Amino acid sequence: MGEGVAILANPPLCRRNGTDLDYPYRPDSDFWYLTGFHEPDAILVLIAAPQKKSILFCTETPSEESRIFNGDVCGVTHAVDVYGFDEAYPLTKADEMIPGLIAGKGTLRYFFGKRRDWNIRFLDWLNAARLYSPEISKTEDLRAIVSEMRLIKDVHEIAELTRAGVCTAKGARSAMEKCRPGIFEYALEAEIQKVFRENGCGRLPAFTSIVAGGANACTLHYVDNNCILKDGDLVLVDIGAEWNYYSGDVSRTFPVNGVFTEPQRALYDVVLDAQKKGINEVRTGKTVRDPHIAASRAITEGLVRLGILSGNVETLLEEGLEPGSKVSFRRFFMHGTGHWLGLDTHDTGDYRDKDKHPRSYKPGMVVTVEPGLYIQPSPDVPEAFWNIGIRIEDDVLVTKGNPRVLTSFVPKEVKAIEALMKKR
Ligand code: MN
Repeated sequence: MGEGVAILANPPLCRRNGTDLDYPYRPDSDFWYLTGFHEPDAILVLIAAPQKKSILFCTETPSEESRIFNGDVCGVTHAVDVYGFDEAYPLTKADEMIPGLIAGKGTLRYFFGKRRDWNIRFLDWLNAARLYSPEISKTEDLRAIVSEMRLIKDVHEIAELTRAGVCTAKGARSAMEKCRPGIFEYALEAEIQKVFRENGCGRLPAFTSIVAGGANACTLHYVDNNCILKDGDLVLVDIGAEWNYYSGDVSRTFPVNGVFTEPQRALYDVVLDAQKKGINEVRTGKTVRDPHIAASRAITEGLVRLGILSGNVETLLEEGLEPGSKVSFRRFFMHGTGHWLGLDTHDTGDYRDKDKHPRSYKPGMVVTVEPGLYIQPSPDVPEAFWNIGIRIEDDVLVTKGNPRVLTSFVPKEVKAIEALMKKR
């Protein structure tokens, strides 16, 4: 940012049930990215010239009474000496001060559309600023700039994401160790969240845990987690710990009783082969499309081998890769192979380059690789495979060399899973 001003905000606490209770607070990812400041209800103003300056509007230093009810907050007092903002003012001064701060400073950048109430406030500031200086001619969406920054992770962020990945993998591993026929899906969910907390992660996971036994795994976003895990079924967990607001995202599928049946193992190995081939494409210079093509090819070959699909692999692959396809392998693998990962689980960042082509990987990008197979009962599919749902997902860092898997603490080979579960 050579010139101009940027403004963004951390939203206030969010009420639940329409009463006076709040949801646990989670700061805005972009605000956290630029400030490391996690308290609700704050506004950041960044000024580029004539002098670089960061100004925070936040909760006033609390009164004695408020301290008794709500504990201490950073407040205006510590925003400068602890967080290093150049200036800090109480939030109540924002509407009065911001127009003067932004007037005559060049392009005004803001996250348009993020929150309706902030949009209105922003327009009020803009109008008021025009009274000071009619020259505010240009506004620009801050999102495009910050999301490009967030796409390439720096050394600090890679360390944070590695920690999020390890904690998530620990949760999945513990789920394998604690799994038994007859327990409820939520018992594994609770175990996973306990492991996240014990490892220093946030109270809330990065997203609602999926623990899906048997046919529940064929519902892609199953989150009820209230069924009994049955002997002879598989269980699919798709979970993410949040470490300093950075997200992990791991899926594992394992037998409830610790041993795969033959049809389960056969399907599982198809997904695993696809996942490994997908990971192998996460390399500098390859595009975001390459893991999906490699995984889809392996899935198609596997389905033909198992008699679930019939025909020529190349033709089937082409049919399934058509945009919006619901035929061929897309009947059984109907989602993408991965997404950016960072402060958000589905992290910000374009998947296309300026020419609208699939984007090329660069060192510092982090993606998930997560092919799956979900076999609904159907007369043209051997019955042995009905109601099996499998997804295997790891978090992968793009480097100058080989892809670096951040989540390998939890096994994914059939033998390794069975060996771990045998020790229970
Ligand atoms: Mn994912």
